[in-house]
Amino acid sequence: MKALIIGCGVGGPATAMALHRVGIEAEIFEAYGSAADGVGWFLNIATNGLNALRVLDAHRKVMAAGVPTPRMVMWSGTGKRLGEVPNGLPLDDGMVSHTILRSDLHAILRDEATARGIPIAYGKRLVAFEDTGSEVVARFEDGTEATGDILVAADGVHSRTRALLDPQAPAPHYVGLYNFGGMVKDPDFESEPGVYHMVFGKKAFFGHVGSLTGETWWFANLPRALGDVPPDWRPVLVDAFEGDANFSAELLRRNPPGMALPIYDLPPLRTWHGGRVVLTGDAAHATSPSSGQGASLAIEDAVVLARCLRDAPGHEAAFARFEKERRPRVERVVAYSRRISNTKAAGPLTRVVRDLVMPMFLKKAAGDESHAWMYRHRVSL
Ligand SMILES: Cc1cc2nc3c(=O)[nH]c(=O)nc-3n(C[C@H](O)[C@H](O)[C@H](O)COP(=O)(O)OP(=O)(O)OC[C@H]3O[C@@H](n4cnc5c(N)ncnc54)[C@H](O)[C@@H]3O)c2cc1C
Repeated sequence: MKALIIGCGVGGPATAMALHRVGIEAEIFEAYGSAADGVGWFLNIATNGLNALRVLDAHRKVMAAGVPTPRMVMWSGTGKRLGEVPNGLPLDDGMVSHTILRSDLHAILRDEATARGIPIAYGKRLVAFEDTGSEVVARFEDGTEATGDILVAADGVHSRTRALLDPQAPAPHYVGLYNFGGMVKDPDFESEPGVYHMVFGKKAFFGHVGSLTGETWWFANLPRALGDVPPDWRPVLVDAFEGDANFSAELLRRNPPGMALPIYDLPPLRTWHGGRVVLTGDAAHATSPSSGQGASLAIEDAVVLARCLRDAPGHEAAFARFEKERRPRVERVVAYSRRISNTKAAGPLTRVVRDLVMPMFLKKAAGDESHAWMYRHRVSL
């Protein structure tokens, strides 16, 4: 069997490696001239995602390039410490969540796939596919095509494959937040390595964590109507954070905020597959970044899809089994993440209530295992 994999972000190379493990040939086709590095700046890879990478024997380099980030401290915009919670639950062997630059994660996964003999073709933007019944043909913007037995979409939240598979599929849902991020090395903005500091500010949300090389990796979530893009984001962001009791406004004043990224998640789809084509990762179930789970879910998908293709009597049975196993879990994460995103876009009244209630909530959450379903989930081949 040969699989055409569309997209070389997080899930694409992971899927190729998982398929390779079960003896399925794979080739990856990426729209950009090189992998789309940089978008989103840095990522939290939760323990469930690291565990899925471990199944593929691809976790070591990711962990070595990342920062162990087992803790999260929450603050209000007034400077009140609301509480501390683990950043995901550690696994039995002590493995904890790690934070890694997105460009490093992409490079590691891409190089690992290449080292295993998996070809990656760049500059191949899928524009159409044809399922002939006996094979599937992928057509690319540059006029070339490729033929395989199955086509696996790993082309992200704005998936072209999804729209081609089901033109009625819902569009991604804007969660009401623009995301900004960056890295600074400046003694005025130092941040503790290994600890996320998350600030529910008066008007917007700010997070930062220290890298092992003395940088501060930061992000901001600004509640804003979609498309309401000012000529310059800097004064807007400085205004949003001015008055919060931390360095966010000053950091933004001195460092241009860079690209603004509207944040989406995906309403549940009617179906994840059709004929020889299957959707995975964000193409099937994008979650907002608030849960820090999207990449981990894409890697879990890779492992589960490979197992289903190995064990089921044919590709259609495999895709159906894959969807059945994955859908309840990922939809639960998407809903969980959306709830967190909503608290970041809180109005003044909700904010007061949130700051009052959150310490009690965090105290309870610090010691309980109620998120074990998310972080201790284990996929296997
Ligand atoms: C700001 C931000 C912060 C985030 N933070 C986290 C986090 O901390 N932890 C976490 O787990 N997740 C996080 N996520 C989510 C995470 O990035 C995604 O869930 C994850 O990358 C999904 O992997 P994927 O392979 O499905 O899609 P992607 O990684 O988006 O990869 C899709 C790939 O497909 C390519 N492509 C698109 N269209 C085509 C086409 N037509 N033909 C060929 N190729 C195509 C793209 O160029 C891209 O390389 C964050 C997302 C954002 C936006």
